[in-house]
Amino acid sequence: MDYLPVFLNLRDQTVLVVGGGAVAMRKVEMLLKAHARVRVVAPRLHAELSLYRDAGRIEHLACEFHQRHVDGAIFAIAATDRSEVNHAVAAAGAARGIFVNVVDDTSASSAVMPAIVDRSPLVVAIGSSGQSPTLARRIRAQLEALLPERLGELVRLAGDARERVQRALPDIDRRRRFWDQLFAGSIASKVYAGGLREAEALLDSELRAAADGTQRPRGEVYLIGAGPGDPDLLTLRALQLLQQSDVVLYDRLVSDAVLERVRRDAERVFVGKESGRHRVTQQRIHALLLEYAGKGLRVARLKGGDPFIFGRGGEELDLLRRAGIPVIIVPGITAALGAAAATAMPLTQRGVAPSVTFVTATGDGAEGLDWRSLAAPLQTVVFYMGVAQLPRIVELLREHGAIAECPAAIVEQATLPGQRVVAGCLGDICAQAQHAQVVAPALLIVGEVARRAAQSADLVKALLPQGAVSA
Ligand code: SAH
Repeated sequence: MDYLPVFLNLRDQTVLVVGGGAVAMRKVEMLLKAHARVRVVAPRLHAELSLYRDAGRIEHLACEFHQRHVDGAIFAIAATDRSEVNHAVAAAGAARGIFVNVVDDTSASSAVMPAIVDRSPLVVAIGSSGQSPTLARRIRAQLEALLPERLGELVRLAGDARERVQRALPDIDRRRRFWDQLFAGSIASKVYAGGLREAEALLDSELRAAADGTQRPRGEVYLIGAGPGDPDLLTLRALQLLQQSDVVLYDRLVSDAVLERVRRDAERVFVGKESGRHRVTQQRIHALLLEYAGKGLRVARLKGGDPFIFGRGGEELDLLRRAGIPVIIVPGITAALGAAAATAMPLTQRGVAPSVTFVTATGDGAEGLDWRSLAAPLQTVVFYMGVAQLPRIVELLREHGAIAECPAAIVEQATLPGQRVVAGCLGDICAQAQHAQVVAPALLIVGEVARRAAQSADLVKALLPQGAVSA
């Protein structure tokens, strides 16, 4: 190891930056974040740097670099595009025994700057010993996705509680176990999901329980929207929680590719309901949720799309709340939005579709809908449906005044490798769907925007009238 990472406390320390361009600007911003006193030496300043100067946030010496500018600084950064100036800074720093970073010139530098993932007070620094800053930046991007945005809040929460925990749990092993459980469990997930207050209260009650030995393993449930199928459409939070779950209860609509993103050693439990013949009842799912969480496990309840769009997420939430089990809700991209993006079909559009409605027409639901308003022009209606309902939906729309020429499209397996689009109008969509042998899961999109579906690349082309699609 040629380089040792060290975190410098630069608060109120003078740091010299030589150069006044965009690169210097980025360094100055970083230094200001660290509350350093920044001295910039440059004949001319980048516009934004001048703003800092005018606001009195940096000291600016409008001249060429001279070695005396290093005096009083504890660190220096050379960020000019002239290597002789950069080398002069390095030499002046070396003569006075301070570290100098020369931007993009490792061999001239006595210090290299890491790529940073900032979750202050937690900071991750990634360095490649100056060998490949690009690679270090890539790794930073990966860590950015992996580390929750509010990790810093958790660190602060732990920091604030440190003395209290020390007093309540003098035994080091018990203390360590307490912290481990805290960082792996519901307190951490609460903080990540924006529930700092709740997390604080939870910490206090768990600490009391740990101190008097009544602490019980505490489970929690993550109600996660898995999106329409493409695993890259998972949210970062969904991914983070799937990586820390002990058991995953998943639906039929959750794709294999999404399941691949679940922690390797998590137990996977299929709770899909087969349409018509319910294999696993909602009651059974409820019982399983209570059972696993009751054992103190972290349970991911993974649902296709979004848990609160025709997903019965509300019922599961109520159950868990009543049982006092902490729940984290993670939204997912609902099938309609996945299908819209995957077929380049905006769901609203100025002038032709000022509103969009999501309806489910499965089960007996169809009868209770306001078909007159669903059949009205100038809107988009997306039907979440069993394919078997298609003829009935079209019939009801027509009966309530929708015209046969109204554009309609079916998107089957949206965002999945087998995605297909069947496009037409209300007058012919049923016949088209039958020819194409559309299977679940599929959406019916009705309205002017569905005209665009005819341009979709994965259209079932053979079924369209001659010339309707260009190659
Ligand atoms: N919570 C889910 C919807 C569950 S209802 C969501 O937000 O997307 C189930 C219906 O969703 C299916 O019958 C089908 O109409 C639709 N659906 C789900 N995933 C789909 C996909 N990948 N492609 C097309 N339709 C889908």
